[in-house]
Amino acid sequence: MNPLSDQSWQPWLDGVSQRLRQFTRDDLFALTVTPDRDWWAGVIEDADRTAEQIKVLLGETKPTDEGCLEASDVRSKRVSVNGQQVYAYQLVYWAGNALIPNADDVVRHKCHNRRCINPLHLSHGTQLENINDTRDR
Ligand SMILES: [Zn+2]
Repeated sequence: MNPLSDQSWQPWLDGVSQRLRQFTRDDLFALTVTPDRDWWAGVIEDADRTAEQIKVLLGETKPTDEGCLEASDVRSKRVSVNGQQVYAYQLVYWAGNALIPNADDVVRHKCHNRRCINPLHLSHGTQLENINDTRDR
């Protein structure tokens, strides 16, 4: 398959609104240790607006031969959400999967391309794993 026409992330995107609407501040939420916990929850609970923002972000990306969806030319793209700046890939991964990161949770790029926001290239890691990723390159 030609990676440039690879749309395998489309079902993920189609499911965003539903995932966000199903989010509840459950027991796991209560155990989450991060100063931004309530901010993330607010972003997820603003389901329609956040789903739309993610849809627009992904729609503006440039696909690469490797199947990456690059959101910017040089550095990781930042976006403003409810008065806070986050990386676009953080919004796509955490909010898009209705997850709230703990203080030491990071988004890993399986493709090692930090400009990429393809939801299928992002995964959940810790700070230590991220340092090892960089070292292994
Ligand atoms: Zn990628």
